[in-house]
Amino acid sequence: MGELKVLNSGGEVAVTTRLSDLLQWARKWSLFQYPFVTACCGMEFMATAAPRYDIARFGAEAPRFSPRQSDVLWVVGTISQRQGPVIRRIWEQMADPKWVVAFGTCASCGGFYDNYTTIPGVDKVIPVDVYIPGCPPRPEAVLDALMLLQEKIQANDRKPVVVPPHLVPERAPGRTGKGKS
Ligand code: SF4
Repeated sequence: MGELKVLNSGGEVAVTTRLSDLLQWARKWSLFQYPFVTACCGMEFMATAAPRYDIARFGAEAPRFSPRQSDVLWVVGTISQRQGPVIRRIWEQMADPKWVVAFGTCASCGGFYDNYTTIPGVDKVIPVDVYIPGCPPRPEAVLDALMLLQEKIQANDRKPVVVPPHLVPERAPGRTGKGKS
């Protein structure tokens, strides 16, 4: 009892005995994202949304630029002291349940900006669910973060997690040249 099996691609039939499991399943596959992009990590964020990585496979391709319509706040890039209150306000305006992803080293811990203008990690201002290391993180790491977040949503787990290193980035078919990734 209580097991959730809801798969739509492998031919399995949806079976659940708990409404909460079904709700969490629906939530994790329909995440509306609010991208708060401040710096160079934004390029990798855009790459993840492009066809090669195809974040639409995870039901997370739709950006919303109103916090009231968003489920996940992606903090992408360096956060200055002046931006702190702004991002706090955005987070407060999001409806529950809501999640936060710290995208890249700067958003996670301030990166190499050890100075008075930079917040050393957005978790000094708002709670973070998933941290993505990297300067910038590769799109594969971003997808790893999204899948981790989906697992956390399904399990109703709010404990913060860090995306583990992606040691062997996968190459798309036909991309074998040196320096290409
Ligand atoms: S982690 Fe690196 S790439 Fe990302 S915003 Fe900071 S300096 Fe730029």
